[in-house]
Order: sequence, then structure tokens, then C-alpha cells
Amino acid sequence: MAIRFYCPFCDQLLGIAQRRAGAVVECPCCHGKVGVPAEEAAELPAAPLELVPLASTSVPPDGIVLSRSQLVALLLALGLMLLVSFAVGLVVGALSG
Ligand SMILES: [Zn+2]
Repeated sequence: MAIRFYCPFCDQLLGIAQRRAGAVVECPCCHGKVGVPAEEAAELPAAPLELVPLASTSVPPDGIVLSRSQLVALLLALGLMLLVSFAVGLVVGALSG
């Protein structure tokens, strides 16, 4: 696990090993002396990495449900078409005969 924090001098997002918490490091961007916070800064925006697993796990079940309902709807439509054509054939046969 790494601690991520912003350099107070140049606002560069920095990452450093958690065991370096409390140490003073040199910012690779502006070379300022930066104290490493004990934990990640609270004002950091939500990490996109934490959102990705939620989105990726919620997508496959939805896709399966959608394809199943679409398959059922397709089968129902096909059956309805067969019924309608059968009924039309009956009516046409009754009219002509
Ligand atoms: Zn800096």
C-alpha cells in the first residue's frame, strides 16, 4: 500500500510507501522538502480504481438479464406472429371456401 498526497508546493500528486509515513522526502517535481502524511489526505478525490470493480461487477449480471428478457420477448413475438398468420390463414380459407 502506498500513501498518496499532494505536494504543498507544486500540487503534484505523489505516492510513497506507507512505511515512509512521517518522513521528509524531496518532491521529484519541485524538489521541495515534503513531510509525508501518516494517512492519505482526506481531500483527495475518490480514487477511480475503487469505482472500477463496482462498475465491472455490476455490468455482467445486467447484460445476462437483458439478453434473457430480450430472448423471451423475441420468442413471444415469434409465437404471436405464428398465431396471427395461422388465424389469417383460417380466415382467408373460410372466406375463399
Ligand atoms: Zn512539489
